[in-house]
Amino acid sequence: MKNLYEILNVSPDASEEELKKAYRKLALKYHPDRNPGNKEAEEKFKEINQAYEVLCDREKRLRYDRFGTIDETTSPFDFGFTRNFDDLFNDLFSDFFGGQRQRSRKGDDLRYNLEIEFEEAVFGAEKEIEIPKEERCSACKGTRIEPGHEPQVCRACGGKGQVRHSHGFFIINRTCEQCNGEGYIIKNFCKTCRGKGYVRTKKKIKVRVPPGVDTGTRLKIRGEGGQSVSDTHPGDLYVVLRVKEHPLFNREGDDITIRIDVSFPVACLGGEISVPTIEGNRVLIIPPGTQPGSVLKIKGLGVIKSNGYGRGDQLIYLNIRVPKNLTEKQKQLMEELTREFNEEIVTPRKGFKERVREFFEGTE
Ligand SMILES: [Zn+2]
Ligand SMILES: [Zn+2]
Repeated sequence: MKNLYEILNVSPDASEEELKKAYRKLALKYHPDRNPGNKEAEEKFKEINQAYEVLCDREKRLRYDRFGTIDETTSPFDFGFTRNFDDLFNDLFSDFFGGQRQRSRKGDDLRYNLEIEFEEAVFGAEKEIEIPKEERCSACKGTRIEPGHEPQVCRACGGKGQVRHSHGFFIINRTCEQCNGEGYIIKNFCKTCRGKGYVRTKKKIKVRVPPGVDTGTRLKIRGEGGQSVSDTHPGDLYVVLRVKEHPLFNREGDDITIRIDVSFPVACLGGEISVPTIEGNRVLIIPPGTQPGSVLKIKGLGVIKSNGYGRGDQLIYLNIRVPKNLTEKQKQLMEELTREFNEEIVTPRKGFKERVREFFEGTE
């Protein structure tokens, strides 16, 4: 197998900059776009990419230097050529145009708890939230270097970030103390972020809450999560919803429920009552002889379904209100009514206790 340094036409102590330059030159020369149909150029291009893939990575390069191999079967590191060559190529040339050569790394996902009104969960809403953000400094693009200045290759380590020490038979690599292992030294720090590479900001974000959401619904907002200096792209923002309680309504899935008291006479005789709905009051017809626990339904006045198709109903749980403190006249009328029904008037004082006893004795 050919020496990787030879493939790139550089000396084994070439700096990262020199490697990059050499690779750029060769990659441009042998790029398949410039050599259509040329098998030899294609092979050469592959070879260059493979060599650069190893040598541009500090760890892989160190290991290659030490063991002279990139054999992945014996390596505790991942030396596989898993990266797409195009990625490598594009990375390098975006660097050429002022970007940064970096591996793809996603920032942290963030969570934001958002409380919304009952009605907003039913119909959907547009909310504005403000999130604290650490954003990559736009002035230096996260490089920490004042625009117009260049970092200097660290003299102590030659840009490798590691320094070799020999101890008898052993060669020990230590992180370079001059550059903290970065391989370069920044003299002119970015003034905007004071050399941090990121700035703390607050960002207002519009959140579209679709209809049909409920407490616990998570809305994913792509790309609004965190992004540290070493992240190539930001994480995502998860807005977790909590729906406030409504003084009148409850939810059962896509149905809106309400409890309504109906007077005893209306339950008996039937009648019309006014029922609040999420879209204002509606007149509801109570049929004669309505029983306690009856549930009436107003179709289509529930929650708009989150899949966009249709809408739930409003369910009205009826509670038949039994009057507590009757006037003398009401009492008389009730007693009259009871006689009319041919029912014995039972009072707790007389008869009821005996009945209870009879009931339990009868079941023995
Ligand atoms: Zn150094
Ligand atoms: Zn900056």
